[in-house]
Formats: sequence, C-alpha cells, structure tokens
Amino acid sequence: MPAASSPRPGAASTDVRRSAADPWKLDLRELGRRAGSMREWNATLPAPAGWGVEMIGVPEGAPVQLHLRLESVMEGVLVSGQVDVPVAGQCARCLEPVTDSLELDVQELYAYAGSTTEATSEEDEVRRIDGEHLDLAPLVRDAVVLTLPLSPTCTPDCAGLCVDCGERLDDLPADHSHEVLDPRWAGLAARLAGETDSAEKTDSAEGPQPGSARTNPEEI
Ligand SMILES: [Zn+2]
Ligand SMILES: [Zn+2]
Repeated sequence: MPAASSPRPGAASTDVRRSAADPWKLDLRELGRRAGSMREWNATLPAPAGWGVEMIGVPEGAPVQLHLRLESVMEGVLVSGQVDVPVAGQCARCLEPVTDSLELDVQELYAYAGSTTEATSEEDEVRRIDGEHLDLAPLVRDAVVLTLPLSPTCTPDCAGLCVDCGERLDDLPADHSHEVLDPRWAGLAARLAGETDSAEKTDSAEGPQPGSARTNPEEI
C-alpha cells in the first residue's frame, strides 16, 4: 500500500496541532518506528470530563496514574500496562457517596496510517496513530466505562433505605421498625394481616394460606 505518504482524505489534521495542549496525546517521535523499540512510560494525567456511567464515574481532573509500556511493532505501537483510576459516585441502594479506585489492565494496538492493519480495518475497529501522536484517552476511557458498575454500592451488602423513614438501614438497629405494636394486640394484628393477604388473592380466598403449603415437615 503506497498510502503511507498521503493522509486519508478528510482526515482531521487539526488534531495534531492541538495535541501540544492535550497531555493524553503522546508524541511518538521519541519512540521511533523501528520495530522492537520499547519505552516504559509512567505518568499521572488529569481525567477529562465525561468518563462515567449514570451513578459513578471519574471526577473531571482526578489524577489517573498510567504505568504503560509502548512497543513499536510492524503495524504500529502496542500499548500495554496498568491504569489506576479514582472513581466517585453514589450508592444505588442508599444514595451515600461512594469512592473507589479501579486498577485496569490495558493492551491495545494503535495502527500506523497506511499499515495493513489500518487499511484492512473499519474506521471504528482499530485505534489509529494520528500523525506522530497517539491518543491514550479513548483507550482508557473505554476501559473505565466498561468496568464501572451500573449499580454501585457503598458496601457489597448495603441494605438500602427504610421505605418508611428514608434512613439508611445499615445505620439503624437491626430491629428498626415503624409498627407501633402493643404486645397485647400482636395476635389481633397477625390475624388482620392474614385477612389482608387472602383478600388480595381474590381467586383463592377460601383456600389454605399460601405459606402453609410450602412447609415440608421432613425438612424440619
Ligand atoms: Zn449503600
Ligand atoms: Zn425507618
């Protein structure tokens, strides 16, 4: 493919000029194109905006630690290593703030313009090297967003909120309850509750209580 010397028509050349201001875009001139050359690269970069899902994400500007290895291969640059990302959000059950950090392993080939990989891949199938720059942000963003939980919780077994008072159940005593029950009326209350249950099941109001059928004497 003789395409190496001519950029693809319509390719955004302005991105290269902007790169000086974007720390996520690595200048590859130092690495060189010789296959086999390798560079360790450690850096802490500020997270761009918009890395997150509904209830949790990376705060904009939060320090993202990169421990990467950049290897020059025939088709481009292989990026691999570990990324440590602070995340913050809200517990999906009790709405308390949640902070955590993700340790992500990344490995990705960035293809040179004009390489066979670049020429034989669809636009969105492969990450590309833009001129002399390699933009790490989309790689890390995708790894972060795919790892973030859709329903983050403050603790693995967070009990959520009391439906009556809205307090966190984990902050309340185990016997937290809103029933104001005089022990002398407990029997009557249980009977009333039973009547409510059977009234809800209109087609089996005369039948046995659903709970009793499940009791297997052999299991006791
Ligand atoms: Zn919670
Ligand atoms: Zn309550």
